[in-house]
Amino acid sequence: MMATTHALVGLALVAPIAVVAPDVAAPLAAGAIVGGIAPDLDLLFTHRRTFHFPVLGAGPAAAAMIGATIVSTPAAVGLAAFLTVAWVHAVTDVVGGGAGFDPWTNPIDRAVFDHWHGQWIRPRRWIRYDGAPEDAALGALLAIPALVVFDGPVRPLVALGLLFSVGYALVRRRLPSWIDE
Ligand SMILES: [Zn+2]
Repeated sequence: MMATTHALVGLALVAPIAVVAPDVAAPLAAGAIVGGIAPDLDLLFTHRRTFHFPVLGAGPAAAAMIGATIVSTPAAVGLAAFLTVAWVHAVTDVVGGGAGFDPWTNPIDRAVFDHWHGQWIRPRRWIRYDGAPEDAALGALLAIPALVVFDGPVRPLVALGLLFSVGYALVRRRLPSWIDE
């Protein structure tokens, strides 16, 4: 799934909490957006391994969530949103395609690395590859709660993210050939 889809999953997850606790809506949104995107920065290292923790990420996320319910400061809430959404990102990468860049000519049977068991988890391919039409469609659907609940800079950010998603999905299958040239 695209990093933008992950960020929108995060915003949809924290949206109900922002409804109940509007005073921490800003740190919730910021933590969710950064937590949704950050794991994919490991494109620079070993993608879906270096910053993806589908199993080990659960512990810190749970601890931060408990912490944020006890001390509901903006920093604690933002950290909890960040760790939880980053963990959910790693888990949901399992339902996408393999970690390869060109899944049509070179399908890879590695979705995301499980550091606990020291092995790769196999891709389920419900979303066939990052930037697939269903990936962009899922993002558009998930944007609805974010657009309804959040205001301020979140709305233009969501619109920008959607624009990027659709644009990326439109050119996704041509990207490998452009980069090879
Ligand atoms: Zn990822």
